[in-house]
Amino acid sequence: MSYITDKLGRPLRDLRISVIDRCNFRCTYCMPREIFGRDFAFLPKDQLLSFEEIERLAVIFVGLGVKKIRLTGGEPLLRRDISTLIEKLTAIDGLEDIALTTNGMMLGNMAKKLKDAGLKRVNVSLDALDDTVFKTINDSNTGPARILNSIDKAKEAGLGVKVNMVVKKGMNVQEIIPMAAYFKEKEIPLRFIEFMDVGQTNGWNYQKVITKGEILQLLNQHYRLEPIDPSYRGEVARRYRYADENAEIGFITSVSESFCASCTRARIAADGKLYTCLFASEGFDLRQLLRSDISEEALKSSIEARWNNRTDRYSDERTEASAAKKKKIEMSYIGG
Ligand code: SAM
Ligand code: SF4
Ligand code: SF4
Repeated sequence: MSYITDKLGRPLRDLRISVIDRCNFRCTYCMPREIFGRDFAFLPKDQLLSFEEIERLAVIFVGLGVKKIRLTGGEPLLRRDISTLIEKLTAIDGLEDIALTTNGMMLGNMAKKLKDAGLKRVNVSLDALDDTVFKTINDSNTGPARILNSIDKAKEAGLGVKVNMVVKKGMNVQEIIPMAAYFKEKEIPLRFIEFMDVGQTNGWNYQKVITKGEILQLLNQHYRLEPIDPSYRGEVARRYRYADENAEIGFITSVSESFCASCTRARIAADGKLYTCLFASEGFDLRQLLRSDISEEALKSSIEARWNNRTDRYSDERTEASAAKKKKIEMSYIGG
C-alpha cells in the first residue's frame, strides 16, 4: 500500500462519491427550482459511473490511502439498487468506513437493507422542525415528520446517525434552538453547516452566512457547552458536548474557520470527474479513462499524479471578491 501526499503534504484519506445528480428535493440554497426545473438536463444513465466502475475506482483509491468513503449526490437513495454498491464497497480490503449523506426522504423504508449491505453510518440533512419553514426550504412539500421518522428507523436498524443543518440568514435561524433541543433529547449529534459559496446558482454572499460564532452565542444562552478535542487529523467538524449530558453538536465552519491545511478529501462527481477541492472549476475525467483500455496500474498512476500536484486551499484564501469571481461547480453535482 502506498501513501501519497499533495504539494502541501496532505495525505489522501477520504473519498466522496456522488452516485447521481438528480434529487427529489429542490432546496433553495442547493437546487433552486428556477434553475433545476422540468427542462434541466440531468445526466443520462450511461454517463453515470456504473457500480463496477465505482468499485474499480474505490479499490484504487484505497490502495492510495483512502480509509473512508461517503456516498452522496444529488440524492443517493434515488440511485437504483444502491445497496448493491454498498455490498461491493464493503468487500474492499483496507476500507474502514462507509457512510452516506441523504435528505432522509426515502431512508425509512431503506434503512435496514442499507445496514444489511454493510453501511455503517448516515448523515441526514434536516434544516428545520417547523413544517412551513422546512417545506419552504425544500420546495417539495415534504414535512419534517417524514424525515424524523426516517431518522428513528435508521437508529432502529443499527445505523450511526448524525443530522446536518445548513443555517442561512433569513431562512432558518429561529430553528437553531428547537433543533438543538430535539436532537439533544434524542442524543443524536447535530452539525450546523455554514452556508457556503458552492456553485453558481444559490445567490451566496457573506451577509447570508450565519457563522459558528453566532450560532454558539445563541446556544450558550440556553446550554452549557464544552469543546471536544478532534478525534483524528482531518476531522472537519468542530465538536462540543453538552455539560453533564450524553449529547454533542458540531460545526462545519468552511467560511468562518477554514480547514484546508488538514483537508484529506477527494471527490468523484456522478459523471466520473475527479475533483481535489469542493470549490474546483475543473475536474479530471476518470470515466473516459475507465472506458478506455487503460491498465489498473496506469489508472492508479494518473490519479496519484493529480493528488501529488494538488495545491487547493480555496477556503483559506476566500474573499467576497474571489467568491463572486470564481466559476464553481454545483453542490448537487459534486455532492458536498
Ligand atoms: N441530497 C443529500 C442531502 O441533502 O443530504 C446529499 C447531497 S447534499 C448536496 C449534501 C449536503 O450539502 C447536505 O447536507 C446539504 O444541506 C449541504 N449543502 C448543499 N448546499 C449547500 C451550501 N450552499 N452550503 C452548505 N451546505 C450545503
Ligand atoms: Fe437535494 Fe440534498 Fe441539494 Fe437538498 S441539499 S436539493 S436534498 S441534493
Ligand atoms: Fe478542502 Fe477545498 Fe474545502 Fe479547502 S476549500 S477544505 S481544500 S475542499
